[in-house]
This record gives sequence, C-alpha cells and structure tokens, in this order.
Amino acid sequence: QGPVHVIGGGLAGTEATWQIARAGVPVVLHEMRPVETSPAHHSEHVAELVCSNSFGAQATDRASGLLHEELRRLGSVVIGKADEHQVPAGGALAVDRGQFSRDLTQALESHPLVEFRREMVPSIPADGIVVLTTGPLTSPALADDLQRFTGMQYMSFFDAASPIIVGDSINHDVAFMASRYDRGEAAYLNCPMDKKQYLTFWNAICAAEQAELKEFERETAKFFEACLPIEEMARRGEDTMRYGPMKPVGIFDARIGDFREHKDKRPYAVVQLRQEDKQGQLWNMVGFQTNLKWGEQKRIFQMIPGLENAEFVRMGVMHRNTFINSPELLNPTLQFKTRPTLLAAGQLSGTEGYTAAAAGGWLAGTNAARIALGLEPLVMPINTMMGSLFDFISSAEPKHFQPMPPNFGILPSFPQKIRNKRERYGKYRDRAFEDLTQWSQEHQIELQIRETVEA
Ligand code: FAD
Repeated sequence: QGPVHVIGGGLAGTEATWQIARAGVPVVLHEMRPVETSPAHHSEHVAELVCSNSFGAQATDRASGLLHEELRRLGSVVIGKADEHQVPAGGALAVDRGQFSRDLTQALESHPLVEFRREMVPSIPADGIVVLTTGPLTSPALADDLQRFTGMQYMSFFDAASPIIVGDSINHDVAFMASRYDRGEAAYLNCPMDKKQYLTFWNAICAAEQAELKEFERETAKFFEACLPIEEMARRGEDTMRYGPMKPVGIFDARIGDFREHKDKRPYAVVQLRQEDKQGQLWNMVGFQTNLKWGEQKRIFQMIPGLENAEFVRMGVMHRNTFINSPELLNPTLQFKTRPTLLAAGQLSGTEGYTAAAAGGWLAGTNAARIALGLEPLVMPINTMMGSLFDFISSAEPKHFQPMPPNFGILPSFPQKIRNKRERYGKYRDRAFEDLTQWSQEHQIELQIRETVEA
C-alpha cells in the first residue's frame, strides 16, 4: 500500500502530516502555495496564520486553553511549536507567526517519512488513504470535485452565522418557550420586547460599527440578498426587523395566556433562539447573521431582554468559508461515511479556528495512520474538548449546521448544577484530563504531561 496523502498544508494538514509520520507511516503532503495561492495567504510556509497571531486564552479553564493542553499532552506539533515561538500577549497563546510557520515547514521538509509536493490537487484522489485539509478557501477546482462527491446540498461556500449563546446564561424568567403559530412542541426560546426597548435596540443597531470586509469578501455581499445581515435590515426601516426575524405574531406565552385576550401584554417584537445542540446547552439567535464588530454585537445583543448576561460561544459572522455538512457526511473518527479511507479535518470539516483545526488534524492524521497500519480508527472521549467538537460536527442537526469553535457548551453537562462559571469550567477541565488519561492508556497513546500545568 502507498503512502497516505494529505491535501492542504494549513493548520490541520500540518498536524495530520506530522502525526502520520510520527506513527511510522509514509505521507505525501500536497500544498498548492506558492504555485497557486488563496486570497488570504501570503507566504509559502505551512500553517500560515492568515489573520490574528493568537491561538486564544491559555488558562485551562477556558475552552481554547483546555484544547491547547489536550493537544500538548497528545504531542501536537502545532501547539509544541506555538509554545516555542510564543510572544507576550497577556493570557493568550500568541506566536511570532513567521518563525512559527518557517519552523513547522522545516520540521516537515526534513522528516524522512514526509514527501512535500508543492502542487494544487484539483480532485479527490480515487484510491488510497487521503486526508482533506484544504481549509475555508479550498481551491475552486477541488471544491467543485468535493461538491460532486458530497452532493450539491452538502457543501457551503459562505458562512452566514448568527451568534450562539450558552443556555445557562439566558434569563429564563424573561425568555419563554413557544413555537410560532404553536406548530409542534414549543421549540424556540423567545425574548419579548416592548416598543421602547425595541426602538432603543433598533437605534443601537443602526449606529453600530461594522467589521471591515476583506477585499475578496466584498463579492460575498451579493449572495446574501435572501439572508440579509441584521444591521442591513435595520437600516432599511424602523419596522423591517419586526416584519422579519423579530415578528411578534403567532407567539403564545403560556405564562400570560392568549395574546388575543391580553392585547396589552402582547410583545412589540420578539427575538427567537433556536436550539443548536442535542442537549439544549447552546442557542442560536434566529435571523441575526451579522457583520457587526464582535464587541458591538456583545454590547447590543445584551440589550435584548433575557440576554443581559448572555455568554456568547460564537459571534455572528458573514464571510467566505468552504465547509461540508459534516453531520451528514462524517463519523466522529473524521472518516467519510461513504468512503472510510477518506478523512477531513480543519475548517473544511466545520470546526472554527486555528486550534480546532490543529485538533482535527491530530485525529484525522492519527486515524489515517491507524487505517494504514490495520488498526481501528479512534473516537475521542466525549468529555474532552476534542471529543465533544468531533461529536458535535458529526451529529449536529444537519439543516442548520454552521462551523463551531471550541466551547464549554458542547461538553456534556454535570447532573448537578454548578452555578459559578469558573468552578464549572474547572470541573469540566478536570474531567477532560481524567478521561483523556484513561482513554490514552486504553489505546496505548503516550501522553506528554509537563511538570507545571497552570490550573
Ligand atoms: P488553512 O489553514 O487555510 O489551510 C488550508 C491549506 O490548504 C492552505 O495552505 C491552502 O493553500 C491549501 N489548499 C487549498 N486548496 C488546495 C488544493 N486544491 N491543493 C493543495 N492545497 C490546497 N481563525 C482563527 O482562529 N483566528 C483568526 O484570526 C482567523 N482569521 C481568519 C481570516 C480569514 C480571512 C479567513 C478566511 C479565516 C480565518 N480564520 C481564523 C479561520 C482559519 O481559516 C482557520 O482557523 C484555520 O486557518 C483553518 O485551518 P485549516 O487547516 O482548516 O485551513
């Protein structure tokens, strides 16, 4: 059997390639740069950080920090090199991006089991073990072929996502469960507004600061006529949002009774939240896709009654992003259901962010090597940040699937409520480390634990 092929040398592809070689399996890494480039990359090096140089907060009771530490223990080359090239950034793991990418390029180029080919791969290789890690800006030819392979409806090229909120942070004394026109079970959380609250909110959105679109993303705007950003809707008129996602009609608050009989209590506008995960820990603001700056989103969306203390696991975005509908297509091993020798990781598989891409690369690379060695592919423990991410992308509700960053909302909750957030997240971390240790012992994976892990 020939070598494993990894297509795309970004964050996920670099980690996957390294883990395959580390397992003693020959691997070919295909990277199109510098022969061809994407609109966001500027160098010829692997694992280029296209925007910020930060991998997020380091404390292990933060979602990103827990993911760093899981990867560190599992021998991730991306996090290992990030640690080596760290620059001061408060509590965040930020790196000297040039040194970081150069060093990783050199590590792969000099590995005896890695063959590095600088070429654009236009279609999915028909045979062999293949890991797809071509990222949010996958080259158009390969994206077309992927679309043929997955089926038209299972690929997205733009990410128009509304903010996602942790359920525990919503004030349930204000927000109430109801479905519009009472269709089926009460499935939505509704945040009601009176006229004064609505007008204050509308004015705030109209005056809010918007994020700069990248040059190549300006074209995106024209794709969104059917899915307008909330700020654009607001600018079109005082009542446009009230005739759109904030329609107050057909909603019945069981605490009050039929609004037809209690007209004075009828809300002037309603923000609806739709359940995002199986456990109901995450809630998506329906119709609130937006290009507003993240700070502005937080400030303004916390004006919504019931969301005063909302904790956001993902802010709204509207940008170019190629990703597959993983819940329909992938197993939690990151293998395609219809072709188990084909795996996908990184942004293409519907995770969000640098560290999550490296995490996917770790599992897809490890599993590709295991398939080559005749071993069973691994599913990661659900209580780890890695395991819960891969469980989410392979089992979320496919119809509304949007990329997911690491966050504590996707971890299984404890049977008992722990009100204090820091304490709760600390317990999630302790449970994740325990389960990772046990799982790695079961699968003879050696963990690398540093002497001093800050709690
Ligand atoms: P990438 O790192 O993009 O790697 C994909 C690789 O595949 C690239 O090297 C590309 O050249 C190569 N490739 C593509 N097609 C082919 C082909 N056909 N043949 C061979 N090679 C190919 N995330 C953050 O955490 N923080 C940020 O600040 C941030 N900013 C972003 C800004 C922009 C403009 C974009 C588009 C994304 C941003 N992201 C950010 C998300 C970011 O893309 C991911 O976090 C991360 O880069 C994903 O890693 P990846 O390995 O999936 O993809």
